Amino acid sequence: MSEQNFIIIAEEVHKWYGKFHVLQGVSLTVNRGEVVVLMGPSGSGKSTFIRTFNALEEYQQGKIIIDGITLSHDLRNIETIRREVGMVFQQFNLFPHLTVQQNITLAPTWVRRWNKAKSEELAMQLLERVGILEQAQKYPGQLSGGQQQRVAIARALAMQPKIMLFDEPTSALDPEMVREVLDVMRNLASDGMTMVVVTHEVGFAREVADRVILMDSGSLVESATPDAFFTNPKEERTRKFLSQIL
Ligand code: ADP
Ligand code: MG
Repeated sequence: MSEQNFIIIAEEVHKWYGKFHVLQGVSLTVNRGEVVVLMGPSGSGKSTFIRTFNALEEYQQGKIIIDGITLSHDLRNIETIRREVGMVFQQFNLFPHLTVQQNITLAPTWVRRWNKAKSEELAMQLLERVGILEQAQKYPGQLSGGQQQRVAIARALAMQPKIMLFDEPTSALDPEMVREVLDVMRNLASDGMTMVVVTHEVGFAREVADRVILMDSGSLVESATPDAFFTNPKEERTRKFLSQIL
């Protein structure tokens, strides 16, 4: 397969926090429309790694190419990348003083310079897509955690990204709200979105992921189809990790 088919290429990525070698030569390629689930113990570098894809984290060695654009320190580059790569965090990070609709129109208005009507129309479409159209005029504090996370997903989608990164999107939610967020993500995947998802939701990974990867101590340990990963892992570290979460 030629390089052009990969929307994400990470080659031997190294990063240090001071003396701490957090990413120890991590390589990953992701196809368009692929859903990759990244698992691994806390502190293994999962967040740091996916945050390099939208330039939220710098790296010191290696190469990252997103949709043909090599990530560099060039600011114009970073703006383009942030537009192409949406991100959803564990903590929803909504603006508390803005309504749901305003949270979503912010980016299209300021970054894409769309007018108010066009941005608002997009916001309503996205709220419908994540199933909370009726919450548009509320403030984040008036919503449940699951609803807030769905707003956060809609807000990321408002940039019309080509890639969506999710960093433990359901970890801060009460158990009864996990499903509604995973359902939105499942729909996004079946619409063809390229997704890299850090999650320990095994059901989601089994059903939605094309590939599941174990990260440990700054390296990728094993990469397999969900079935192979969960039922017949090759690496001892994967078996040990699975015995802790299953
Ligand atoms: P994970 O998401 O797998 O839990 P992280 O990428 O958040 O792991 O963190 C990997 C390691 O890097 C952890 O040991 C963490 O303490 C450390 N780390 C994360 N962010 C920073 C930072 N800004 N400065 C120094 N160390 C950090
Ligand atoms: Mg993390």
